[in-house]
Amino acid sequence: MSAPAQPHGIGTCTRCGLCQQACPTYRDWRLEADSPRGRVEIVERIAAGERPDAAMAEHLYACLGCRACETACPSGVPFGDLLEFGRREVERTGTLAPERGGWRTFRSFVFERVLPSRALFGAMMMPAKTLRHMPTLARLLRSLPMSSGARRALAMASIETPMGNGRLPAHSKAIGERRARVALFTGCVMDALFGGVNEALVRVLRSSGCDVVAPSGQWCCGALNVHAGEQRRALAMARRNIEAFERADAEAIVVDSAGCGAHMKSYGRLLEGEPAFADRAAAFAGKTVDATEYLDRIGVTMNRPPSARRVTYQDACHLAHGQKIRQAPRALLRAMPGVEFVELRDADRCCGAAGVYSLTHPAMSQRVLDEKLAKIAEAGVDTVTVTNPGCHLQLAPALAQRGVRVRHVVELVDEAIHHSSRGTAF
Ligand code: SF4
Ligand code: SF4
Repeated sequence: MSAPAQPHGIGTCTRCGLCQQACPTYRDWRLEADSPRGRVEIVERIAAGERPDAAMAEHLYACLGCRACETACPSGVPFGDLLEFGRREVERTGTLAPERGGWRTFRSFVFERVLPSRALFGAMMMPAKTLRHMPTLARLLRSLPMSSGARRALAMASIETPMGNGRLPAHSKAIGERRARVALFTGCVMDALFGGVNEALVRVLRSSGCDVVAPSGQWCCGALNVHAGEQRRALAMARRNIEAFERADAEAIVVDSAGCGAHMKSYGRLLEGEPAFADRAAAFAGKTVDATEYLDRIGVTMNRPPSARRVTYQDACHLAHGQKIRQAPRALLRAMPGVEFVELRDADRCCGAAGVYSLTHPAMSQRVLDEKLAKIAEAGVDTVTVTNPGCHLQLAPALAQRGVRVRHVVELVDEAIHHSSRGTAF
């Protein structure tokens, strides 16, 4: 078999091992092959032309993709890129263990059919939206016997999320003097289950002097696809978003989902081999900013105490490790009147959500979550803030039982500017 095209960053690992303790699977299993260094070695073998066997595939899919190893690595190994390449080759030429037989059916259905289609994705979200309005049905379903993965999916599907009023305007004018024209990336899961966060972000941007456009034609960023080794639709989704946002003619593309933002900032590299898109993808990536990064940069005036009092912040892996943004959300929280900000121990360790990992590897996901919940209990807070829908869905069911709320940082910024404005029309 000929060697595949070499991925970005191949050959940069010096095998120093400084990443090992940052890795949740290595800390738990103590296996070299389930450490960052071990996985880099697997990817290097694949890049050299070795066909991935079931064991190699298992080690690559057991990775949470949290990229904590990138932060720990002194040599700048781009682990996320190497992992995406390795999984892509597993799907292209590799084999899977018999017990993972269902993965390819799931992968084909979710990443090749549902996520690329707004209509199919909307239909898939209907049960989750229905369960939010029918707590008795959700309780009944929870009492039925089911696998741990299905139980996790049900818990996520039935928790209350800020769905909003479903009326995100295509254009919203700045309040007061106009400082900028920005475009909002609305996303797929954010749009379906966290529309209230998108609406809060529009209110905050307007109050901070921004005209806000929500371009039609935009859709899912494709991050979950590339994490699952799927590239064809991921590229199509990236091209579609680039075209949609070019029409918006905005100076920044603001995104309130850390996982989406990290991937959108990589569009330049994703499409560098396509002459028709390379420059446009680089321009798109250069304009993409996380909502907290942008609000901290332009400055927001917060005069009112939000509904949270003692608050901590869980770093999203793709914000802290993927985008290297740590201070902006903390600065916003610390500036809120009436809020006591408490730093969470090991805040930048993964919560176990990791895209679809909590469904495909529920036992490890639960162990990582349990560690996080213990640290949240230590912090003694009433509210945990997040910047990513996966973290929100992972933490909220368990924290609801403990009387702790999970909120997006932007929701609290909105309250601190507008007070009780959640749910109001534009
Ligand atoms: S991405 Fe996370 S789980 Fe995967 S090897 Fe790196 S630290 Fe470990
Ligand atoms: S990934 Fe980085 S930290 Fe880990 S062994 Fe390689 S060079 Fe060292």
